[in-house]
Amino acid sequence: MAGPLAIGVDVGGKSIRAALVDRDGRIERRVKLRTPLVSEAALVSALEEAIDAVVAPQARALGFGIPSTIDQRSGRPVSSVNIPLTDLDLREHMSRRFGLPTGVDNDANAATLAEWTFGAGRGTRHLVMLTLGTGVGGGLVLDGRPYRGAVGAGGELGHMVIQYEGPPCHGSCPGHGHLEALASGHVADAEARRLLGPDATAVELVAAARAGSEASLTALALIGRRLGAGIETLVNVFNPEVVVIGGGFAGAGDLLLEPAREVVRSRALVPGRDLVRIVPAELGPDAGLVGAGLVAFEALERAG
Ligand SMILES: [Zn+2]
Repeated sequence: MAGPLAIGVDVGGKSIRAALVDRDGRIERRVKLRTPLVSEAALVSALEEAIDAVVAPQARALGFGIPSTIDQRSGRPVSSVNIPLTDLDLREHMSRRFGLPTGVDNDANAATLAEWTFGAGRGTRHLVMLTLGTGVGGGLVLDGRPYRGAVGAGGELGHMVIQYEGPPCHGSCPGHGHLEALASGHVADAEARRLLGPDATAVELVAAARAGSEASLTALALIGRRLGAGIETLVNVFNPEVVVIGGGFAGAGDLLLEPAREVVRSRALVPGRDLVRIVPAELGPDAGLVGAGLVAFEALERAG
């Protein structure tokens, strides 16, 4: 690794991962800790421990991808569903603690930056990304620039309405019938329990479908068509060159993506539907970490 390095920190509901990242997206000296969920103080101290474990003299900036909506005016997470971050000025706190320019972004925005720069969206100027995990995250690159909305809280594509009178969304989201409530890994977990037993998860549902279970194939195809309905809207609104599908549940691959593509091909508007590519992400679980590194380099550039 050469040149200035950044420290990327990818914060999830289960684990905190930190590493040194260079400008080519290479990763070194990685560490993984369990995410403490008992209190904000415990979480912050685990974040600091992870950074202390990877920090090096060449590190010039610090970047976080966190599962929260961010108000970029203050650097504060304003709404976190899965982690106990409530009203901490994370950017200011970490910048002071480590003496480095610091950037904070939503985890799906960070993954989008990574896939756009180094992954399935390389070379494009108009990209939409959806990350399918327990929830559904989203990110946008419009006209060659990451798009985050007026104060940084935009790109929450998982909270797009698919069914107006549909099921309530997750966590603190007040919406109904959102993509996240209809096409997340959480929804697949529920289908797995219904079809395969009380301990089954989306992983078993996908395995059963691959082994030829008609019921599991049907369940995944329905989730895929709902995903397609969301993508249809995004194609009509943004006319992207590529829609990148990442996150753990995206491991279902074409079991989800083919039904989604069929919906887009038959229902979205021409010519956008004929031009768009709907593809799996390429960076796997490292997208968030590399993206957090890119968020750090952005902060370094802003600091001049
Ligand atoms: Zn929602």
